[in-house]
Amino acid sequence: MKVSSRRPLVAANWKMNGSKSLAKQLENALVQADLRHVDVVICPPFPYLSCFEHDLKLGAQNVSEFASGAHTGEISTAILQEFSVKYVIVGHSERRTEHHENNELVASKALVALEAGLIPIVCIGESESVRDSGELFSFLAAQLDAVMDKLGITRCQDIVLAYEPIWAIGTGKTASPEQAQEVHQFIRAHIGKQDKHVAASMRILYGGSVKGSNAADLFGQQDVDGGLIGGASLDPDDFLKICQAAK
Ligand code: PEP
Repeated sequence: MKVSSRRPLVAANWKMNGSKSLAKQLENALVQADLRHVDVVICPPFPYLSCFEHDLKLGAQNVSEFASGAHTGEISTAILQEFSVKYVIVGHSERRTEHHENNELVASKALVALEAGLIPIVCIGESESVRDSGELFSFLAAQLDAVMDKLGITRCQDIVLAYEPIWAIGTGKTASPEQAQEVHQFIRAHIGKQDKHVAASMRILYGGSVKGSNAADLFGQQDVDGGLIGGASLDPDDFLKICQAAK
C-alpha cells in the first residue's frame, strides 16, 4: 500500500481550449465535491481566470521572465497575482517546442515565479526518440539540473515538478504505472543527491493522457503525487474522477 506524507495535487491544463460556460460547469462540479484530500489547480487560458468566483486554486499556463514593459503578448507575475493566481506551469513541452523555450529560460521563469511568491509547476519529459535512444535519464537529468542550478536546491522545495513524456501528451498513449514510477523514482533520487529532505517532500506529478479510468493506477505509485491533466480536464465529470482518484 502507498504511504506518503505528500499532499496530492491535480492540475487542469486547458491549453488553448475552454469557454466561459465550461469554467462555470467545472467550478460547479468542483465546489460540490468533497476534495479535501487533494489540491486542485485550474490553469485556463488567461481571460478565463476571472470566470472562477469560488475559492478555487488558479494557475497560469505561462509567465514572462520579465517584470513588465515592452513584451507584447506576454504576462507578468504581478498581473497574474491581481487575478489571484497561485501556480504557474513553466516548461510545458508545447512551449519548449513551439516557442523554443530551452532549459535555461524555463529555469529563469521558475525563479521569477518563485521570487514573486507563485508556485511553479515545472514540466520535464522526453520525446519518443530520446527514450528509444537510451538517453532517457541523462536527458531528464539535464532538464532537472538546469532548474536546480538556477534556483539552488533549497528553493526547489517550493516547486512542483511534472513528468510529462511527450509521446504520451494528447496521444491517448499513457505511460504504464510502472514506467511512470520508474521515472519518478529516478527524479526523486536525482534531486536527493543534493538534498534528501527536498527530494522526499517535493511533489512530482505525472502528465500524459491521464483519464478517470487510469488515474488511480498511476496515482497509486509510490512516487507519483498527482497529475497534470490536459484533455480530460475539459470534461468536468472525468476531471472530477481524476481528482477523486488522487487519494
Ligand atoms: C498536458 O498538456 O499537460 C497533458 C498532460 O495533456 P493530456 O492530458 O491531454 O495528455
